[in-house]
Amino acid sequence: MEYVEHVVDLVGNTPLVKLNSLTSGIKATVLAKVEYLNPGGSVKDRIALRMVEAAEKSGELQPGGTIVEPTSGNTGVGLALVAQRKGYKCVFVCPDKVSEDKRNVLKAYGAEVVVCPTAVAPEHPDSYYNVSDRLVREIPGAWKPNQYANPENPASHYHQTGPEIWRQTDGKITHFVAGVGTGGTISGTGRYLKEVSDGAVRIIGADPEGSVYSGGTGRPYLVEGVGEDFWPETYDKTVCDQIVEVSDADSFDVTRRLAREEGLLVGGSCGMAAAALRVARDLPEDAVVVVLLPDGGRGYLSKVFNDRWMASYGFLPPDSTGATVGDVL
Ligand code: PMP
Repeated sequence: MEYVEHVVDLVGNTPLVKLNSLTSGIKATVLAKVEYLNPGGSVKDRIALRMVEAAEKSGELQPGGTIVEPTSGNTGVGLALVAQRKGYKCVFVCPDKVSEDKRNVLKAYGAEVVVCPTAVAPEHPDSYYNVSDRLVREIPGAWKPNQYANPENPASHYHQTGPEIWRQTDGKITHFVAGVGTGGTISGTGRYLKEVSDGAVRIIGADPEGSVYSGGTGRPYLVEGVGEDFWPETYDKTVCDQIVEVSDADSFDVTRRLAREEGLLVGGSCGMAAAALRVARDLPEDAVVVVLLPDGGRGYLSKVFNDRWMASYGFLPPDSTGATVGDVL
């Protein structure tokens, strides 16, 4: 019989898939690391598992404890999966702008979701940062992973994602590209790949236009999950050799083309792969570019994959109806 003990045992070891259509005119090999094939549907399963196991070892998380984190998305799903396996409770705090569908995903896994008003300042007692801190104080046995400051976030990529990519490419990888949110993925994976290659692998962070990593102030952009308006502790400034800025328009164009031309229904931040394509354009045939695609596209059907939404922000002409989107773009 061939089976795993629990779905959590399937975290990691995601495949590399060659991009064939988006790379037309490019000589280098461009490989996508497809993270939606993790059991919770995103790269965040990796950090959830490692953060929880480290907290168990340090004693911060005790049997029967409660995981409390301000998150509405992928990290919540990863934590909920791991919590279920290990018998912890989960309370996630999210602002009310988060769609009901997203909250329901977390509830479906058995988590409790506390909703806070979006229209209050971060220092307000009802802001979702303050509510999560208060819950940590009030719930006995509560533990907050804090993905923006937890060193186990980049460590999971240093010990797992990086070695996987090195092994899967037989050490032939020359460039690694990933979008930067908490910075855990690029910092951990990048540091491992630099060390193992004696500095030969070039590490490229992709950042939405306006975010701090590419010199902005956090001006709003629509792509979700990447870019920040502050510098998280999980981002190691010494790892990236280059930061490439990607506009919302380019990002959404590439996201839609990944689904339509490569069969990869991926999330909006996967459009950061635009940076990988831009870099690969100038590279020779023997270059191997790996770009990490953080999550799947199902959570974005009413946004990047919705023609009306795209048109309302000017990414498609106002009369777009959908059937010929690729042609219009
Ligand atoms: N894409 C999505 C959809 C995400 O949720 C995140 C995490 N915020 C990222 C990309 C960026 O990954 P990291 O936090 O490791 O920088």
